[in-house]
Amino acid sequence: MLLSVVIPTYNEAEGIGRFHFNHLLPAIKSAAKKYEIIYVNDGSSDLTLSILDSIAETSPQIKVVNLSRNFGKEIATTAGIYEATGDAIIILDSDGQHPPEIFPEFIKLWKTGAQVVVGVRNSNQSEGVVKNYGSKLFYKLFNTFSESTIVPRSTDYRLIDRAVQEEFKKFDERQRITRGLIDWLGFDREYIYFDSPARLAGEASYSTT
Ligand code: UDP
Ligand code: MG
Repeated sequence: MLLSVVIPTYNEAEGIGRFHFNHLLPAIKSAAKKYEIIYVNDGSSDLTLSILDSIAETSPQIKVVNLSRNFGKEIATTAGIYEATGDAIIILDSDGQHPPEIFPEFIKLWKTGAQVVVGVRNSNQSEGVVKNYGSKLFYKLFNTFSESTIVPRSTDYRLIDRAVQEEFKKFDERQRITRGLIDWLGFDREYIYFDSPARLAGEASYSTT
């Protein structure tokens, strides 16, 4: 089995080295014998790209997709999903808030038949009032008006089977919420609950929820 890991990255120069060498590599090695890592540089204006390029030089299993400008996380993630060639694809943030340490749990559920494994943030975690209110409103509206429903606090941290990737590639929406599209597709789904640590460095630049 080949595991692909897709990582959207925007202005993460400060933390990306630590993310890669201290968190991602040990986790991926304990989860799969064969793997590929796809970093998508989403038009970063700091040193992210040159750091990613030097990280990629350490191993042929690491690939950098460099977007021509900042398109936003959803498009960056989509670009990475298109590049992935694995049997299973794990998508996660590059700031340490999606701990790679739980990769083996994702793989375990995939091996028992799940085609989509969704990372869900534990509810005991504090968030800003505005963000929290915004999230609740988002889920309420989404679940009211959409054909599909999403579990509150489900994140973009998820695994998708190659079959899901094939269907995902058929979407041509430019305005997209990747996790919403993945949910809409259906397939056999499982959930993993996790505590989201603070960013390794810097501040969140963007958020829909
Ligand atoms: N990101 C991206 N393009 C953007 C903004 C963010 O690829 O325009 C990446 C960022 O590097 C991180 C992930 O998307 O890996 C989540 O971003 P952030 O931490 O800013 O948002 P959060 O969802 O944690 O509030
Ligand atoms: Mg973050």
